[in-house]
Amino acid sequence: MDISIRADRVWGSLIGGAVGDSLGYPVEFDTLEDIYAKFGRKGIRSHVIINGVAQISDDTQMTIFTADAILQGLKNNSGDIVESCVECLRRGYQQWAAMQVEDYPLTSIDNPSLLSHVRELYENREPGRACITALLSGEKGSIKTPVNMSKGCGGVMRVAPIGLCFSAGTAPQLIGRIAAEAAAITHGHELGYITAAALACAVHELVNEEDTRVCDAIRHALSVCKELFPNGQHIEELTALISKAIELAQDDISDAEAIMQLGEGWVAEEALAIAVFCAIRYENDMEGAVVAAVNHGGDSDSTGAITGNIVGARVGYNHMPLHLIKKLELIELLKVYAQKLSEQRYRGV
Ligand SMILES: [Mg+2]
Repeated sequence: MDISIRADRVWGSLIGGAVGDSLGYPVEFDTLEDIYAKFGRKGIRSHVIINGVAQISDDTQMTIFTADAILQGLKNNSGDIVESCVECLRRGYQQWAAMQVEDYPLTSIDNPSLLSHVRELYENREPGRACITALLSGEKGSIKTPVNMSKGCGGVMRVAPIGLCFSAGTAPQLIGRIAAEAAAITHGHELGYITAAALACAVHELVNEEDTRVCDAIRHALSVCKELFPNGQHIEELTALISKAIELAQDDISDAEAIMQLGEGWVAEEALAIAVFCAIRYENDMEGAVVAAVNHGGDSDSTGAITGNIVGARVGYNHMPLHLIKKLELIELLKVYAQKLSEQRYRGV
């Protein structure tokens, strides 16, 4: 495939996630009725601008740390690629958590990454409790040694860069394993990390294959998850909810009613299901997808972020409406990481 098409999709996925996150952030804790009361019966459809920018939330903050850490992990690799990446991801997330509780400049972490100079990443944007608690505890959460039993969506909403940095031909099992371990640093429940594997595999296929439909990428990703976690107790539950999302996307039902049937998105499987629904229904329409993804009574910024990651990986950056990007907070930093991720084409087996 043409490298520039792939690069455009990598940019689309990373920046698309930030677009969905920033659109949903102002209504994260609103009911649907609250949203209608504030923005009219069509809901929130464009950014709320605060201090001149469309603010990103913790979802994009952590995604930026994922991008920074995975690039470092690939560079440091001296044998075990999973170990190298997960170690860097752990350090990166710990740095983010430290920045959430400390003032600029960061002093408590040895050799912090350059992200310690970015003041916006110190801002408290409603970080998830499971993430902060697990990271500040000093414990080493992993799939083998769960740090808690959380299945909040904080694990899945941050892992897209793991799917974006590997080249075509990389074994999806490798990508899924790294993404699942990345999520398990803070989320010990199976559904908290298997969903992360599914998202990373899906965006990897979407950016690298010629013309993959979203529903096929998701189905393939779920079958990789089944291979990776053959003894998973909750795989069937996840598969059933995602199948429901795929069916609803083709049904004659309003976006809001369909999303209500899938849940609120606070937990990972619901967040992924809502994103899958929106991404299939609006697979060539970034604006339609993220607007659908944030107008509900649940975790609007995370469902917006995951939807943006998926649809952006399909449509690419050049097909994104300019008005959704131009006021985006940290857009220049996001572009730097989009470029680095698109240039990093590590091929792993
Ligand atoms: Mg958030």
